[in-house]
Amino acid sequence: MDAPATAEMRTHAINDNVDDQELENFNRLSSRWWDSQGEFGALHKINPLRLAFIQRWQPIRAQKILDIGCGGGILSEAMAKMGAQVTGIDLAEAVLSVARLHSLDQEVLVDYQLISAEAYALAHPNEHDLVTCMEMLEHVPNPQAIIQAAADSVKPGGWVFFSTLNRNYKAYLLAIFAAENLLNLVPKGTHTYQKFLTPAELDAMARQAGLQLRDSSGIDFNPLLNRYRLKSALDVNYLLAYQKTN
Ligand code: SAH
Repeated sequence: MDAPATAEMRTHAINDNVDDQELENFNRLSSRWWDSQGEFGALHKINPLRLAFIQRWQPIRAQKILDIGCGGGILSEAMAKMGAQVTGIDLAEAVLSVARLHSLDQEVLVDYQLISAEAYALAHPNEHDLVTCMEMLEHVPNPQAIIQAAADSVKPGGWVFFSTLNRNYKAYLLAIFAAENLLNLVPKGTHTYQKFLTPAELDAMARQAGLQLRDSSGIDFNPLLNRYRLKSALDVNYLLAYQKTN
């Protein structure tokens, strides 16, 4: 028989949407976050593309932005430097310390908080002009709950931007086999194929959360030139732009 959910059960459910091994992997490498030639180099390289994709639809300047799974702050800090009021949330403590220290060093104001997306959304409903959640959904047990939290945190009419990895043969070969073993683009064990999401799966979850798809883009990687570009095919890395309709 289903008992009604108590506040305690709800809190427990919130804290359950975490893979401790994932957080441990990110914490272990936290000091490497801002080395643009290091383990997180790919995030540094794709950052200008993400900013360009967001700005197709929304200015960043003067917006109140939530960055879910902000990591060391590559995206959060860039948006703050462009004049946004940014809150960055993550559950990897060492990574957040790196983010805080780096923003102090750069004299950029970002409000970094160690809190789950679900708990944050409960405390700050309909508060943000824009929510970003990049390269994070493929690291959590229940992406639907994160997408719901993103939708809950944004104002009606506001924008939510996701990026993740598609789940197909090509994505496996490029994003795991080649990236982790041949090109050393990301540390071994960074990604688990089963956690990748197809755009259709992500879109179904987003629609259930009250978000409507406005735009999409793939990210092309040229290993010879070590260069990334936006492209239309969503075959490996991709970005989706959503608007909250209600
Ligand atoms: N969004 C950043 C970092 C991506 S790396 C960027 O694209 O530049 C993925 C991040 O998700 C890591 O910092 C990791 O600690 C965080 N993460 C993983 N599981 C999480 C969870 N359940 N809640 C919040 N953050 C999580």
